[in-house]
Parts: sequence; C-alpha cells; structure tokens
Amino acid sequence: MPKARASIIPVTPFQQNCTLLWDEETMRGAVIDPGGDLPLIRRAIEEAGVTVEKILLTHGHIDHAGGAAELKDALGVPLEGPHRDDQFLLDHLPESGRGFGIAARRVTPDRWLEDGDRVEVGDLAFEVLHCPGHSPGSVVFFNPAQRFALVGDVLFRGSVGRTDLPGGDHAALIASITQKLLPLGDDVAFVCGHGPTSTIGQERAANPFLR
Ligand SMILES: [Zn+2]
Ligand SMILES: [Zn+2]
Repeated sequence: MPKARASIIPVTPFQQNCTLLWDEETMRGAVIDPGGDLPLIRRAIEEAGVTVEKILLTHGHIDHAGGAAELKDALGVPLEGPHRDDQFLLDHLPESGRGFGIAARRVTPDRWLEDGDRVEVGDLAFEVLHCPGHSPGSVVFFNPAQRFALVGDVLFRGSVGRTDLPGGDHAALIASITQKLLPLGDDVAFVCGHGPTSTIGQERAANPFLR
C-alpha cells in the first residue's frame, strides 16, 4: 500500500495550513490550499524532494486559494477543486485579497469537484465529499486506506467553520459534519485549515459545536 506523507506550511496572515502531501513510493504529490507565501511553499517542495503533479483546493477563500493561480503557472500543473458553488469566491480573489494586502489573481480550476468524485495524488486515492456550510462549494478530501482527511475550514479541533461570510450557512455546515464527516469513523485523523490536527473521534467526543 502506498504511504502518505504530509508537511504543513502555515501561510498568509491567517496562518492557513497549506499542505504538501505526497506518496512516499513515487515521491509525487499535491499542494493543497496554496493561499499565498509562495516562497515558503516552494521551499517546502524542494526540501521534501517531491514532484508536485497537481494543486487541490478545499474552498475558494483568499487564505486558501490566493496563491493558486501563481503556483499553477510556476509549476505548470492542473488545479482540481473546489466544488463549482465556490466559483463566485475564486472570481473575486483580487478584491478579497486587497483588504489584507494579499495580491491574488482570480483562478479557474481545470476540474470542478462533485460529491463522490475520486482524486489521485501519486498512488494515493481520495474520495471527495461536498461539505457546504462554511462556503457553498467546500470539499473534503478523504483517504479511506490511510484513514485521514483534509477538511479545510469545515471542522477544527474544538470548533467548526465560521458561517458569517457570503454563502455561509450554519445549519448546512452542521449537517455536512454530522452526515458526512462523523460517519467516516473515529480513527480518521484530519488536517484542518487552521490550527492543530485532530481526529473524528476526538471531535465527536469533545467538540462543543456538535452537541
Ligand atoms: Zn475559509
Ligand atoms: Zn481559512
């Protein structure tokens, strides 16, 4: 079975967990959510010795997608995700970035993702879960074989995504978490968009937003 490795690179003033993820056998990988600070991301890629074959986006917010166009051009790789319902966010990245001093370009994915789609990174296979609520087009990448997921801003250790931004919907967010993420299993570990990693079991037991 291919072995997954990950390196987390906090980027942008929001300390967003950009993740370099790769398959140890083939040393091919993906950058998930390159929000900005491209030099940091490119240094992590070099240090790991990974050949990046694609960029993945969990959703269209500036701290996750702000550097996607630039990194895509620099590496010459395709961009996959998020779900098409976040297109309005990707279309307005330059405006969103301005307020935070982030020079972002708008970007269009080569592949929009749907619930149930499959995404490959090296020899690793991920299931796509469409999890609206934090943003309408948020997706989660789940690797069933290795029991881990990348959840973006849907779920955090001890918290859940904010829903006061355009397109946010708290009831939809809680439904996404309880109907799609909790059933993955207590042993599933995940990287979230900000802050420390956690497991589904830890959040099922202790997350105050899920009572
Ligand atoms: Zn977000
Ligand atoms: Zn975020």
